[in-house]
Amino acid sequence: MPSIVLFPGREKSVKQQHPWIFDRAIKSIQGSPELGESVDILSQDKTWLGIGAYSPQSKIRVRVWSWDPTEIVDADYFRVRLKRCLEFRQYIFQRSIPSAYRLVYAEADGLPGLIVDQYLDTLVVQCLSAGIERWRNLIFDILEDITGIQKIYERSDVDVRALEGLPSRKGLVRGNIRDLPFVITEHKIKYLVDIQEGQKTGFYLDQRENRLKIMKYVSDREILDCFSYSGGFTIPALLGKAKQVTAIDESESAHELARINVRLNRFSEDRVKWIKGDVFKILREFRDSRKSFDLIILDPPKFAPTISQVGKATRGYKDINLLALKLLRSEGILVTFSCSGGVDAVLFQKIVTGAARDAGISAQIIERLGQSSDHPIALNFPESEYLKGLVIRKIK
Ligand code: SAH
Repeated sequence: MPSIVLFPGREKSVKQQHPWIFDRAIKSIQGSPELGESVDILSQDKTWLGIGAYSPQSKIRVRVWSWDPTEIVDADYFRVRLKRCLEFRQYIFQRSIPSAYRLVYAEADGLPGLIVDQYLDTLVVQCLSAGIERWRNLIFDILEDITGIQKIYERSDVDVRALEGLPSRKGLVRGNIRDLPFVITEHKIKYLVDIQEGQKTGFYLDQRENRLKIMKYVSDREILDCFSYSGGFTIPALLGKAKQVTAIDESESAHELARINVRLNRFSEDRVKWIKGDVFKILREFRDSRKSFDLIILDPPKFAPTISQVGKATRGYKDINLLALKLLRSEGILVTFSCSGGVDAVLFQKIVTGAARDAGISAQIIERLGQSSDHPIALNFPESEYLKGLVIRKIK
């Protein structure tokens, strides 16, 4: 098997079981490993540290499969890990398996670069690394076998594939799917999910638990849902008896989906105002026209996918949080999120604190939110904690 040798000092993070080895940590390569091929990972003094998948173009040159010298990366290896993922979800969901949930969460589940979401009787898969790409067909076979699900749709049409030197790919890879898009049910709410054209694999499953948690704050309130997509917060707000919801998203197709979702759940469309446009701009317009709300949700896209964009992202978060805090009535509530890997929970709280200070208001944190538990956070891979949320109460 080909191998890579690390520069002295670079073995530390591998020993701590961090799954990424960057190009700059590698001193030499023995053999000529192909895209996604397994390589032994050696320290300077040739001590074996692990086995990983090689990705010749990526800055993340190797993603570690295993740190256990007795483990071989073969079909059994994937079967064991995928089964473990399934059993864990069966355990946390007990008898009430949601109609949509994340079955495999990549590095955090010991399968770097593999995302699998289940929607009813369909699996939607993203292969995001060279290693997963190499084992792709086998992984589909095992998934079919252990879940009994025959419909698999691939959504590997994401930018990060290019960093791995992989082409964008999308389409049906197993079975027949006739009835698309389909309707899932979550917390007694129906959502139309478009796995072919929708964002991510179709729905923001990571917010499932938060969609339930916000319902207790909305009764009889005027809500502003910023970055509303298909209504993941708008519809729970309607169910929670909100008086009015104003939903802002720049995407027309997102609003179309959300409108369908309002109708699907038999809510009156009079209770929702749709605004197509840029949240940054519209919040300013609201400020200038002295509009106010009882509860504001900010669930923006990733402003900082990696640590290098943190400065710009910080300014973006500060801007919208400051504006939102100003638009809130006293005793109002701000539900604010960041899904940027580059902005950790400590920094996010600092940003929101700075926004409150600059807005000249006093406020308290009344709840902390995170990603649903089917998106576990691996202790050896802190990057897997990406969704941070704060529920803030404005006092005055
Ligand atoms: N809250 C949603 C998920 C939000 S995803 C849910 O729970 O389902 C982020 C959304 O922000 C996307 O729908 C995208 O179209 C929208 N978006 C991105 N940048 C925007 C901007 N500057 N102004 C308005 N909408 C934006």
